[in-house]
Amino acid sequence: MKVENFSKHVGKQRRPVSEAPKWFQVRSTLNEAFPSPFRTEGPDPLMLGMNQALSLLNGLKPEPGGAAHIGSASMHPSYEQAAHAQLGQTGLPLSQVVSQSAQLFEGMPHWNHPLTMPNVIPPANLAGIISAMMTQVFSPNIIEGEYSWNVENSELESAAMLSHLIGWPHPSNLDATEGSAPGGLYTFGGSGCYFYAMKYALTRVLGAESRHKGIRTDAKILVSYQGHYAKENSSDWTGLGMDNVVQIRTDPVTNVMDLRHLEEVMRTFHDAQVPIAAVVCTMGTTDAFAVDDVKAVRGLVEKYPNPAPFGKTFIYCDAVIGWSWLTFGSYDFKANPLGFTPLVLEQARKNYEAVQHMKEADAVGCDFHKVGWSPYNCSIIVMRDFTQFQVLMRRGGSAYLQARTQYNPGLYTLEVSRTGAYSMAGWATLKFLGREGFQSILGGVLEVQEALRELLANHPELVCVNNADTGFVTLFRAYPAGVNAQQQYARELTEPQALEELKAHNALQERIADTLWQWFRDGQQHEGAYAPYISYTSGFRPTDYNPDMTVDGAVIYALKAFPMNLNVGLESMQTLLKLVLAARDEVAKEGKLNKPKRRTERRAVLTRGTVEDLVSGVTRRTHQG
Ligand SMILES: *Cc1c(COP(=O)(O)O)cnc(C)c1O
Repeated sequence: MKVENFSKHVGKQRRPVSEAPKWFQVRSTLNEAFPSPFRTEGPDPLMLGMNQALSLLNGLKPEPGGAAHIGSASMHPSYEQAAHAQLGQTGLPLSQVVSQSAQLFEGMPHWNHPLTMPNVIPPANLAGIISAMMTQVFSPNIIEGEYSWNVENSELESAAMLSHLIGWPHPSNLDATEGSAPGGLYTFGGSGCYFYAMKYALTRVLGAESRHKGIRTDAKILVSYQGHYAKENSSDWTGLGMDNVVQIRTDPVTNVMDLRHLEEVMRTFHDAQVPIAAVVCTMGTTDAFAVDDVKAVRGLVEKYPNPAPFGKTFIYCDAVIGWSWLTFGSYDFKANPLGFTPLVLEQARKNYEAVQHMKEADAVGCDFHKVGWSPYNCSIIVMRDFTQFQVLMRRGGSAYLQARTQYNPGLYTLEVSRTGAYSMAGWATLKFLGREGFQSILGGVLEVQEALRELLANHPELVCVNNADTGFVTLFRAYPAGVNAQQQYARELTEPQALEELKAHNALQERIADTLWQWFRDGQQHEGAYAPYISYTSGFRPTDYNPDMTVDGAVIYALKAFPMNLNVGLESMQTLLKLVLAARDEVAKEGKLNKPKRRTERRAVLTRGTVEDLVSGVTRRTHQG
């Protein structure tokens, strides 16, 4: 544009905008489409827009005591029209875009509702939400210090807080001769952390030149059957190949990695001179909260070193579910200052003791958007020797980026631009909750869960099937009226001649879950209450006589309650059981059990992609490895 042209419209003797060319007129209105560059005298337009947005969102919440949906429960997911979307000729006014945005949330499950408990999905805390939103205004990019200034400290300080919790030595307490220091990177979810860890492991074991020549050696990744399917994502996407994942057996009751089998596999590879890139310890499986013994794994890695010239086997703790139990590290379990009931105190101690040896690992993945009550995405991988990672993964600089500060993670991260939203959310959450906040929330979920388990124990037709698990999941089965659930379940669990009864009652759990899902979807009251939003698992463990999963159908189905939000209380659990029993009676009334669905039909349902389908899909994958 010519200077002369432009000054006609902005200079001192400015002409009316109406006389300017169209582009200038449109652009002038769009000036208001951005936050003002300077402090405003009146109310900030962004604040006004946010006000509108937040009051719309508040209006979408149910009336007190309403159903567990955001907005109208009759709004179901429907994707048929999406392909017709086209860019408009002119833009819409801000208020209209904001209100259309709000409409997209309509009908969605409400994670913060007292009746919502389907999976490890927490509502986000205020400090996490607000701090993440703040980054949208000034757009810090944590690719490097120059573009994010002290916002980088949210990543650096989060990594420091977590590596202190893990118990890794820090530069101040390091031997002066040692060049390593812990550190960490925020990334896209627990699967991103896993991916980082596998890339780091492959580079350390196969050598930095594998980054140039490609991965040409079938190094192995050892992880339990119960380990998350992110093992497939990362072995696939790193180019190692999914066939190089070697699954280790788990204990059929505790779901923990079988160390004898692990040793057998490690010895075999050792004798065959095949390098092991990584052993993955799952520090809390998604449902059973099974925690692998990382200290013992460290012992085995030292005992069976990789053959020369390969580097040392990497130990990764997939702690996305378990990491926050580390906050109990300083808890005085004897004095019990937070006053947990004895049973919960024991469970909390057990959970802390299960994760306390993560200092033996080379890296630990933590999800704040799971047991950290932060907004999506918010995950960090912390590494014991971050210096080593930085050296191994470093790329040459770029012509358009200069190292203007000491901290330039863009030189070795997978991502180029990285949002400040996740690092701010995680950091703000750590500041906001503190140890005591985490302890109270974690212990509080267990207290609520114990209330549920007590209600189950007192009802003859219901039985809890995972009493020994100390995580957040309660799995339970409902039996037909008049059946003693305890006795019947014991028979089905142990006696091969009860297989047909087991299958029929497995089908009953599935029908109850489907009925509750229908009731949740219709948003109506049933038996005077709104339906809880829960989930179910089609096989969380085999029967006692089927440890190798060779007997078709000899697995335990169960209804699943995963109470993640702080509004779930005793009353929620009473409603849950009331409606489970009502659903059971409904199933009996309709005789639905006489027409069992075929497996193929269920698969067809699964591909439809509703939230519940995804949830039960994850459950199924998790339990079948
Ligand atoms: C959820 C989960 C993952 C994947 O994490 P995302 O944050 O969903 O990417 C990995 N491992 C375990 C044990 C999980 O529960």
